[in-house]
Amino acid sequence: MPNITQAMLEEALAYGRTFTSQGKTAQYIPYLRHVDRDLVGISVQTADGQRLSAGDAQTRFTVQSIAKVVALALALQDRGEKYLFSGRVGLEPTGDPFNSIIRLETDKKPYNPFINAGAIAVVGAIKGRTGTEKFERLFRFFEKLCGSKGISLCGEAYLSERETGDKNRALAYHLKATKMLEGDVGENLDVYFRMCSLYVTAEDIAHLALVLANRGVDPVTGERLMAAEHARIIRALMVTCGMYEGSGEFAVKVGFPSKSGVGGGIASAMLDRMGIGVFGPALDGRGNSVAGIAMLEYLAKAMDIRLF
Ligand code: GLN
Repeated sequence: MPNITQAMLEEALAYGRTFTSQGKTAQYIPYLRHVDRDLVGISVQTADGQRLSAGDAQTRFTVQSIAKVVALALALQDRGEKYLFSGRVGLEPTGDPFNSIIRLETDKKPYNPFINAGAIAVVGAIKGRTGTEKFERLFRFFEKLCGSKGISLCGEAYLSERETGDKNRALAYHLKATKMLEGDVGENLDVYFRMCSLYVTAEDIAHLALVLANRGVDPVTGERLMAAEHARIIRALMVTCGMYEGSGEFAVKVGFPSKSGVGGGIASAMLDRMGIGVFGPALDGRGNSVAGIAMLEYLAKAMDIRLF
């Protein structure tokens, strides 16, 4: 495998830039409508200590669905995989959009932890007497995984999520009615809205991806942040469900376990090698960053790494 170089990142960035005009920022969350769609950033952190960035890698954006990875890791730590996957959420991809409600009526258990219904059920399983306690635990864990003390809540995005979150409310109440959601619906939803509204940078999510790639250990501090088995489960789910109904095409094009968010970020974990964070708020019709996918595709080819 050729080593990753700054020149490769700059080339990936230039290639990614040519795609931004093909996408739109998420229109259904008012805060995201007004984000500059031409921003593009990339960051790579390797297990042996290389850290490279290019473009808008330090620009803050909202983490959105990438937070579902953190919620899942915490719920796995709190409750174990048996409890979580037998009773709360499945392990199967869907061909439906991330906020779809259609299968909840026939199948009850949300298909996987990365669609909204699944993530809300996962939030329900996180330990904490109140929503605030759950969120504080999640937030501290989130900071550790990102290797950053600079994580904060984007108040404007949070208000936006709350104002326009009726589809997520419908999912949560449906889950409650079928006994798939533990605890208070409003408090769980609030944790969900908050976690989606956390500000991160491409560098932060590259670090999160690096911990997943490094089997749960932060190579910078040497600290184990999650069980190796949990990191493995999460990487597998990132391959099958991380890019929603675009996961199949993405596996063919890129093939790294990855998780996207409608803020424009994608966290990509290459086992034992590196974490990559890409950012570009212009999205395709499935809610995945167009420039982000293009940059990952470019790097996969340039580094000649194919998982499949
Ligand atoms: N906050 C967003 C929502 O719930 C997250 C979705 C996403 O990033 N795909 O709709």
